Amino acid sequence: MKRALITGITGQDGRYLAEFLVGRGYQVFGLVRGQNNPKLELVRDENPALELVEGDLTDLSSLIAAVEQVQPDEVYNLGAVSFVQLSFKQPELTADITGLGVLRMLEAVRIVGGMQDNPIRFYQASSSEMFGKVRETPQTETTPFHPRSPYGVAKVFGHHITVNYREAYGLHASSGILFNHESPRRGLEFVTRKITNALARIKLGIQDSVTLGNLDSARDWGFAGDYVEAMWLMLQQDEPDDYVIATGETHTIREFLDVAARLAGYDDWKPLVQQDPRFERPAEVDLLMGDASKAREKLGWKPRVSFEELVATMYRSDLREEQLRMESSWR
Ligand code: GDP
Repeated sequence: MKRALITGITGQDGRYLAEFLVGRGYQVFGLVRGQNNPKLELVRDENPALELVEGDLTDLSSLIAAVEQVQPDEVYNLGAVSFVQLSFKQPELTADITGLGVLRMLEAVRIVGGMQDNPIRFYQASSSEMFGKVRETPQTETTPFHPRSPYGVAKVFGHHITVNYREAYGLHASSGILFNHESPRRGLEFVTRKITNALARIKLGIQDSVTLGNLDSARDWGFAGDYVEAMWLMLQQDEPDDYVIATGETHTIREFLDVAARLAGYDDWKPLVQQDPRFERPAEVDLLMGDASKAREKLGWKPRVSFEELVATMYRSDLREEQLRMESSWR
């Protein structure tokens, strides 16, 4: 039975990846800080096969102990401060966890078992935010980075240190440059889920409007469930490498609103949306659009869920959840 250790187990991707790997017969371990993460209970209920181990991305010795205890075949480093807006408010914390956390995890892998006969394979969750003020469109594995937030800068460090450990120590370390990927499990702070959740609540009469920031930026949005498969595929290759994972389509926030509002039965979303500079960023990423040709050719990976299907799945899930919440408050 193969063993996998996942950091960021309570996040959207950690939850999908854990399910995917359990489905493939893996024994899956999730790294948790051991203190009251509000999502811990949920993750336990959702995936009873999952085992939790204590450790913190800011504490190397705890990571070494976790890797020693688990003896994993594969390590997936998904743990990070992942919200761009927050990274402007807590840049040092972001650099420590999202950036240096990668180095610590790589060190733990190198020290415990990166060099044995059957070396631990390592996946780093890199991000399209590294492209930032994009130098070319679409973005590929060779597009230069120009990050626009402390989050993006920290991810660039994480990416380069992963490549460096591969080249310097021969680690089987791969970096997946994942474009935005969403799902009903996306945090409510991200614009997609904020919109689908708000429209569900507007539909049910719980609120009147939603307040957003810049509506003109464009993102390449895919379904998180599709993207975790790409992570796994990268670690099944003989050689470690870097891959862009994206749909190749880009849509503005306005277009997202068009689709979501139509699903909720509104022809025009403008009366439902307010704008507030509070939700704008000091520096913005205007447009992201990925070219995942390499992943398609080498990994045989392609996205399955379309943009419209993604928005519909998220909206319907929010509508159901909000309805249930309303009903239980009546009882
Ligand atoms: P990101 O691409 O990782 O920053 O993902 P987000 O979902 O947080 O943001 C995507 C885009 O939506 C960015 O260009 C934001 O500036 C824009 N946006 C507009 N209004 C909002 C808002 O109210 N919340 C968030 N999170 N983003 C917003």
